[in-house]
This record gives sequence, C-alpha cells and structure tokens, in this order.
Amino acid sequence: MRPKQTTLRTLLRLFLVVSVALASGQVFARTENTPIVIAHRGASGYLPEHTLEAKALAYGMKADYIEQDLVLSKDDHLIVMHDIYLDNITDVASKFPQRARKDGHFYTIDFTLKELKQLRVTGPFVPALGRNAPKYTGRFPLWKSRFELATFAEELELIQGLNQSLGYDTGIYPEIKKPYFHRAEGKDISRAVLETLKRYGYTSAQQKVFLQSFDAEELQRINDELMPELNIDLPLVQLIAENDWGEKLTQKNDTWEKYDYRWMRTAEGLKKIAGYAEGVGPWFPMLIEKASTGSAFTPNTLTASAQALGLKVHPYTFRADPQQVPGSIGSFEKLLALFVKEVKVDGVFTDQPDKAREYIYKAAPASKTLTND
Ligand code: CA
Repeated sequence: MRPKQTTLRTLLRLFLVVSVALASGQVFARTENTPIVIAHRGASGYLPEHTLEAKALAYGMKADYIEQDLVLSKDDHLIVMHDIYLDNITDVASKFPQRARKDGHFYTIDFTLKELKQLRVTGPFVPALGRNAPKYTGRFPLWKSRFELATFAEELELIQGLNQSLGYDTGIYPEIKKPYFHRAEGKDISRAVLETLKRYGYTSAQQKVFLQSFDAEELQRINDELMPELNIDLPLVQLIAENDWGEKLTQKNDTWEKYDYRWMRTAEGLKKIAGYAEGVGPWFPMLIEKASTGSAFTPNTLTASAQALGLKVHPYTFRADPQQVPGSIGSFEKLLALFVKEVKVDGVFTDQPDKAREYIYKAAPASKTLTND
C-alpha cells in the first residue's frame, strides 16, 4: 500500500515537473553534474550591476547562484559593489566633489551608508571618457530610471524573501573584496562578512552558498581561524587572477607590490588550495590553449587537475555581448560549448544568466552526465 502511494506520488511529481518544463519550452532538468549558472553581479548584462533590480532579474531568470561583491562603508556596513571606488558606477563626483582622495578616487570606505544611499547608480562607465561613456555598449542606458547601492543584508533579505515567495532555492556567492586594503584601513571585512552570513542562516554547505576571494592567505585565515571561532563551515572558492591586475597587493618595506598568483596554477599549488577550499575561480582563458593545428582551442590540464583533487572549477566571466565574445571563438553558444562540453567546468559566472542557463540545460545532460557517472 505504502510503496504504491509513494510511486504514484513520485509519478505525479514527475508529471508536474515535465509539464512545467514543457510549458516553459525546456524539457531538460538539472542533474548533479549540470554546471551551475552564477549570475555575475546579478543579471548585469541587462541592468546596472549589483543593484537589487539586477538581482531580482537574475532570480527570475533562475540563476542557480547570485553573486555579491562586498566592500565596507565608513560606518562598517557591507555594501554590494565591485570596486573599492565609487567612481565608475555612481554620481559621486558631482554629489560629493570634495571627497576624492589624493589619487583622484572616491573610496566607498570614506562614506557612511546614509551618504552612499544618496548616490545615483548606473551601469559601469569609463570616468576618463566622461560619465556618458558606457563600458559596455548596447546594455541598459546610463543614468536612466533610478537605482541605488544596496547593503549585503538588503540583498540577502531579497533573495531569501524570493526563495519564500517564488519558491526556488537560489544560492548566494559572496566575494570578499581586497581584504588587504580593508586591513590597511583598520577594518576586518572577512569577519564582518562571516558574521552577516551566520546571522542570515548561512552556516554550512547545507545552505546554497560559496564564499570567494582572490586572497589566498585570507581564505586560509577564514578556514583555519575565523570559521571555527564562529562555529560555521562554509565552502570556500579561491579566485585566480593574472598578476598584472593587482587584485592583491602586499607591503614590502615601504612599497606595495603585486601578489604573485602563478603558484595557484601548478600541481603543488592546487593541492595546497584543496587543503582549504572547495573550488577555484579562474579567468576562463586560463583553462584553454590554442590547438597545435588550426585555430581551435582545447582544454589545458588545469580543470582536470583541479577536479582530480575534488575542487570545483567555476571560471569567470562569460559575456554574451557580441564585442565581449573572443572573435576567434565566434559566438556565445560556441564559447559555452567549449567550456561545458570540452573543458567540462562545474559552473560559469555570467552577465547573462538566462542565455547561459538556456544553453547549459540543453547541453548538459548529453555531456556531463554521460562522462561522469
Ligand atoms: Ca566578483
């Protein structure tokens, strides 16, 4: 009696899932090995990055995870924004013209939350070319409608609220920005992020959360000291940069030097990362090389080496804008095909979660599940 009912219920549930899938034009379902879609700064290809509106849109597009870059305000609020400067996404230069530092930048950490909330937010522009020069042409027009900066708490409440009202189980993917900078300013951003995560119920891998940073020593501190102290255990992701980006600076005597990331892409380095992290986030070109003949790209060994150590591989950033797809690859779909079917990544950071999701959910059952059972 009991098993039969269960079977019937399972069939009914399956029927419902298939009906919904058919209604939305998608007859595929996620499997354990389907790469995850991480909405990079929200649905940032369509709305100003990191605004609550861009996050709500990413949610509606059924991203598996939504990303939050985090910096601290003067009064210790975590603000969801990508840079430690306000220069290229707000009207700070006209609202607070006297508040730039000597280097010409307006630092988030010099402003209170009350001041930050007065700023008007737009998509990224190129300050050197003026406030009307978009970084990405063809996206949501600059300075239209009305957007503001959001706190981490506001965004977590948005996503958790939607998880309740709309019913998806969408994860979060916060990034601690430049811990070395915050420390030089007298602030412990990692502790602030972890305390906020704990307050909102993110305490273990049971919740859908990855915590990322470009700072290896800080991730080790989080793993070895901060998380045990707070009695939480979150999956960490080591982001990998090119040295010349200056993602992390280290102080040597009186000068700041760019951190050397090269060790992370060696066998020994990956082994070390696997000791404190659950995954790596490389720049996607780090995972491929030109084929010896012709112009095609083939995977290098980095993805497979990382995965052999149990590390997930979540490269960034897949952008569908025509001018953002490498010309030699040809189209966004071909770019995704290379990374999903050949490189076999575990997830992608993307500015267009709808397009990535559409491609991956169509392609994945035929690729990952067959190769990985
Ligand atoms: Ca990020």
